[in-house]
Amino acid sequence: MANFREKALQAAAAHEAKRYFEEAGPVSTYFGQNVFSPEVMREYMSAQAYEAVLTARKTGEKIDRSLADEIASGMKSWATERGATHYTHLFQPLTGSTAEKHEAFLSLEDGAAMENFKGNALVQQEPDASSFPNGGLRNTFEARGYSAWDPHSPAFILDETLCIPSVFVSYTGEALDMKVPNLRSIQALDDAATAVARLFEPDVRHVRVNVGLEQEYFLVDEALYNARPDLQLCSRTVIGHTSAKDQQLSDHYFGAIPSRVAAFMKDFETQAFKLGIPLQTRHNEVAPGQFECAPVFSEITTAIDQNMLLMIVMQKVAEKHHLKVIFHEKPFQGVNGSGKHCNWSMQTDTGVNLLSPGKTPEKNLRFLSFYVAVVKGVCRHQDLLMASVCSLSNSYRLGGHEAPPAVMSVFSGSTLTHVFQSLLQPEGLAQEAAVKKSIDLIGSLPEIIPDNTDRNRTSPFAFTGNRFEFRAVGASANAAASTYVLNAAVAESLKDFQARVEEKLARGEAKDKALLAVIRAFLEEAAPVMFEGNGYSQEWQREAVRRGLSPVTNVPLAFQTFRKEKSVELFSHTGVLTPSEIEARVEVQEETYVKKMQIEARVLGDVCLNHVIPAAVTYQNVLIRNIQGSKEIFGEEYLHLCEADIETCRKIAGFINALSADVKTLVETRKKANRMENMPERAYAYSTEVKTLMDKVRESADNLEMLVDDALWPLPKYRELLFF
Ligand code: ADP
Ligand code: MG
Repeated sequence: MANFREKALQAAAAHEAKRYFEEAGPVSTYFGQNVFSPEVMREYMSAQAYEAVLTARKTGEKIDRSLADEIASGMKSWATERGATHYTHLFQPLTGSTAEKHEAFLSLEDGAAMENFKGNALVQQEPDASSFPNGGLRNTFEARGYSAWDPHSPAFILDETLCIPSVFVSYTGEALDMKVPNLRSIQALDDAATAVARLFEPDVRHVRVNVGLEQEYFLVDEALYNARPDLQLCSRTVIGHTSAKDQQLSDHYFGAIPSRVAAFMKDFETQAFKLGIPLQTRHNEVAPGQFECAPVFSEITTAIDQNMLLMIVMQKVAEKHHLKVIFHEKPFQGVNGSGKHCNWSMQTDTGVNLLSPGKTPEKNLRFLSFYVAVVKGVCRHQDLLMASVCSLSNSYRLGGHEAPPAVMSVFSGSTLTHVFQSLLQPEGLAQEAAVKKSIDLIGSLPEIIPDNTDRNRTSPFAFTGNRFEFRAVGASANAAASTYVLNAAVAESLKDFQARVEEKLARGEAKDKALLAVIRAFLEEAAPVMFEGNGYSQEWQREAVRRGLSPVTNVPLAFQTFRKEKSVELFSHTGVLTPSEIEARVEVQEETYVKKMQIEARVLGDVCLNHVIPAAVTYQNVLIRNIQGSKEIFGEEYLHLCEADIETCRKIAGFINALSADVKTLVETRKKANRMENMPERAYAYSTEVKTLMDKVRESADNLEMLVDDALWPLPKYRELLFF
């Protein structure tokens, strides 16, 4: 087996469990040490500058340019004292990852070297971003993009570089990133939720969104990864026969963490702690080679920024451990994929979790008001929310038997469902009696509703006691792409809720009665999306369609949901995206989809023609030599003696021929699709014709893997990639 695979396997076997970033002392002594936190800020700048940053964080107010110099200088001093030599604006372009361009602090003044960092450089940077996808926005507006400091998130040091969390916008102010619409949606939700919260507690000034992102990922040994062109270029295997044993026995899930992986986890946690990321949970996931980590939840902007940063840190730390972290949603066919469960809740500035049931009827009335508003918002925009999680990579996962179904539904748990049913049927009681009965019922809602026992993993959007968990979000995604849709949908719904209650109050109705009536109305309107059964069942797929829900059957078609009038209205009314910004986003999504699939199809063709077929032919020759030799020695008896070999030769020849022909058709089909001027049509052709052919090609290649001598097979196999 003197091939690349053999060398890779030997290299992988030599990689050991080892710590590289062990810190002395408890975590609390170094937590956040690389973050320019408010406490540190106070040390490095005047009270006035410090206040300006805090106000900007709270209210979004612009920071005076004259103070920017001072803030920049404080940041530079702090960073250079800690060994930083460069700075960068770190932003979140529409590709879904992060982008950075490093600039040195070094400057020469009259020939003398010194460190310099001015307010202008802090506030704004032009990353010459002409090659970032922008969906035609910058052409339309003839404006280049620039990144601007977002003071909501603190700056930090990573790899001797001061990183400044930033937004990315065009000169005319259009959002070119994931962060801007998310910030706008947080504002819209704050306004709408505060108004409703005040119906119960007049002192509420703000409502914030809390998010906890569970991050699933795969680990693969670096040497094996490098021996797979598909993993290298597509982050997923485009061919590969399933392993005889993978996750059937569920022996990996929550099992003992392999020591090499545990060393990696501890190391990236240490680095994350220094960056102020409060990681709390780590465990094995369902698939072999799959793991998960989750931080303690925090304010949404911080949570999302930290998740993006965590993904960078994990990849960097993995290098030391000769590992590759794979965030792709479905790197291996046949085993579970990876998600980024987005736990989402709302909290008042008075400290109340609005999705947590309380002890009194009044508190539960508030809880129910917010609960039904969320569910109704999710129901109204179920198609858009599902579209928001769509990407090529997540499409391989969604709708799979282990993953959230590709149609939206909300799971509430049996206790709440019972309450809802009772609320909707005040069985012939007089109105006053019905209100009293309902209030009594609400008062008896247990303080903590579903326990972990009452979980439905088949729902893409499940209530888990004091928060909702959006499970359809993909592991590689920027969670903001989904949260800005969710925040906007809930903001719109809460606004509607408030208007309807106010209208009743204006007519002189009692508050409890008015609230109950609107809660009931919302429950009825949200009914289509509420589902407690098995989301994987065929009946539900049919039932969902009957209820008017829109399953994602095709990703490029799902992208079109953003263009629907209802969606455009939602984004306009909430101020989250303008019509041209929406258009730009859809264009980028389509283009990214096509490009990624084009890369996958090319890699598939390459792997088949240059790796699979040559290996198959080599083995075929071995068989042929054996058959020939047998004939020389045994005469006609060879036909009997070599029956199996002859049969294998025929099979191999059949698959090789099919493979060659299908790869050729694949190339032609792709070229035909590329000639389509209309982007939605091109994306659709890729998602149907090209995809079907890719599946066909894969089948022949995987069949050959089962026939060809293991010693000749050039690519690391699933059983080698997946187990530690
Ligand atoms: P599980 O796998 O059981 O869903 P985990 O502990 O892996 O739970 O992750 C749950 C995530 O939800 C954590 O990030 C946690 O901090 C977060 N979370 C808990 N309560 C809330 C809340 N009220 N709002 C938002 N996120 C929350
Ligand atoms: Mg969870």
